[in-house]
Amino acid sequence: MAFKNIIDLHTHTDNSFDGHHSTMFLAETAYMNGLRAVAFTDHLEMDAFHKGSFNRTAIQSFFEIAKARSAFSGKLIVCVGAELGQPVYDIPLSEKLLSTMKYDFVIGAIHNLPEKQDFCHMDFSDESIDYIKLLDEYFEWELKLAQWSGFDALAHLTYPLRYIVGRYGRTVDMSRYSGIIDEILLELIKNKKALEINTAGLRREIGATSPDESILRRYRALGGELITIGSDAHFAEHMGADIDKAYELALRCGFDMVAVYQDRTPTLIPIE
Ligand SMILES: [Zn+2]
Ligand SMILES: [Zn+2]
Repeated sequence: MAFKNIIDLHTHTDNSFDGHHSTMFLAETAYMNGLRAVAFTDHLEMDAFHKGSFNRTAIQSFFEIAKARSAFSGKLIVCVGAELGQPVYDIPLSEKLLSTMKYDFVIGAIHNLPEKQDFCHMDFSDESIDYIKLLDEYFEWELKLAQWSGFDALAHLTYPLRYIVGRYGRTVDMSRYSGIIDEILLELIKNKKALEINTAGLRREIGATSPDESILRRYRALGGELITIGSDAHFAEHMGADIDKAYELALRCGFDMVAVYQDRTPTLIPIE
């Protein structure tokens, strides 16, 4: 099934430490690939904002995306976005940033536990790592993130599974987290925040979106309506990657619209 409105609301430019291509090149790629809208959401890790020079990144990223938004006006909707990592570890700083930058769209994420490294850098083949304890703590922080709700969409709800399950093949009984995941989903619904379907896992070992179909079905059953979809592209060739598969998944789970954001306000676009 071919879709006409391909919207990718999670992408990284070379203003992200792990991004590879310029904003303009990515916008041109998105346009050439027929995307309807794209959000550039460079990493701003709020627990390392000053020591990681994210304060400078924020300004450079914003300026370049705003320039692309003007350049592609009428051809491609470009949303000026940001992916705030760990905003709940420093809420005053996060709120100050959001009050000074006129973003279109803000993603909330947790990539690491306090004072710990990113889950993507951890070696889960190490038997001494109690990854269930880390996951318990991770979901507690995801709940705090949803309660704070200073973002528009909650990114990759099951992020550590990409590595724990996908890369290292460890087993996780997700029924352990069904209660807290329900709480997180209900917070999103109450606060009118979107749940992101992140397609990066479809091109990784885990072979599934984050969150996966079971959680998306649960979100819908609890009354969830707002979803965003993002490739989490860090390369031009991943712009719009597997958004069509996420659309099929969303339709299967009972969603028929995706949100696109301008000026922090969602507009619902039919999945068709
Ligand atoms: Zn990244
Ligand atoms: Zn992320």
